[in-house]
Amino acid sequence: MSNNGPRAQSFNRVYITGIQGKRFDISIRDGVFHSIAESSGPVPDEGTVPAQDLWISPGIIDLHTHLAWTDFDHTDQLKRDIQEIEEMQARALEATLRTGVTTARDAGGLLPGTAQHLVQTYQVPLRVHTSSEMLGAADAKGTIHLDQRLKQIYDTGAGWVKIMATGGLGAPTEKVTDPVFSEEEFSFIVRHAHEHGKRVLVHTWGGVTVDWSVDAGVESIEHGMFLTESQAGRLAESGVAFVPTTSIYRIAADPKGVLALNPVICDRAARAAEAHSNAIAYAKRAGVQIGFGTDYATPALHGYNLQELDTLMDYGLTRAEAWQAATGNAAEILGWGHRLGRIAEGYIADAVIFDADPYMVDDADSLRKHIVSVLTGAREL
Ligand SMILES: [Zn+2]
Repeated sequence: MSNNGPRAQSFNRVYITGIQGKRFDISIRDGVFHSIAESSGPVPDEGTVPAQDLWISPGIIDLHTHLAWTDFDHTDQLKRDIQEIEEMQARALEATLRTGVTTARDAGGLLPGTAQHLVQTYQVPLRVHTSSEMLGAADAKGTIHLDQRLKQIYDTGAGWVKIMATGGLGAPTEKVTDPVFSEEEFSFIVRHAHEHGKRVLVHTWGGVTVDWSVDAGVESIEHGMFLTESQAGRLAESGVAFVPTTSIYRIAADPKGVLALNPVICDRAARAAEAHSNAIAYAKRAGVQIGFGTDYATPALHGYNLQELDTLMDYGLTRAEAWQAATGNAAEILGWGHRLGRIAEGYIADAVIFDADPYMVDDADSLRKHIVSVLTGAREL
């Protein structure tokens, strides 16, 4: 189903997702889009090539996955043997790629060496960007400790530093936005990371750590359901991206859903999901750069990543905005907007081929069924 970029490939008279009424002839060379031209000449007779209409979209970029986690509760993973864990991780990568996600930013748990091992050993050409071990409550011990921790993290080769700035589903709703670090510690981490050429993503449900994120100039905040209208304005102004990971809270809120969490957690997730639609509305109105991320972390969720498009649209994004969040915006947030996320000449040929117009299908389930193939282009990042 996926294909690690033959040297040359071409598609004739295909549609580009989101561009209505025009067909294109597209050629790929050495894993890069070589030429893209609007199709000309007479429509071929019926029965000749193309036998069916096809649509091409840039590969989806999921900015928030946890590909190394196999269980909702980490203690359950510790009961598994190493080989089983590795095979489950490989299946997570495969399922993610098969659903059209060609690039994933792992938001914690997957070491760069493990990612590389999985990609090579299991021949899954997913592009994986990795984060540090998450810096959280156990690291709120002052800047001397943080300096040492960060140096250890840089040694692993991770490109992103992940700060757990607030609680999450494990915290009671009235305390969930309390900061985990002091402001001094928080800004120290961001400055330190930037000085070492790393990018920073911040888990925050809202509150003062959103303001700290803007002040320190992080690359993205994650979740952010309790974002206020004025904070949305500040994010937009300062160019800090917002990766809301909306669908996971809706899934977690459903006691009969695939996560089947206990009622206390379901209730917290439901309140988070309710707040999210406001956060998305504020962000959209202010012009915040919104990125697509799922926070999917278990075998029941990997491979269903496209559900995030549905939730983003339910919360007020247009279809074009949701797809932009998953392609062009996400590439920019990764710092790869000049090479990834578009069907354009000179761009890396990561793409999804559909046999129906992705803008016309009902939902993610149906979209998934219309995937014909997933292409991954040049391996240069
Ligand atoms: Zn996460």
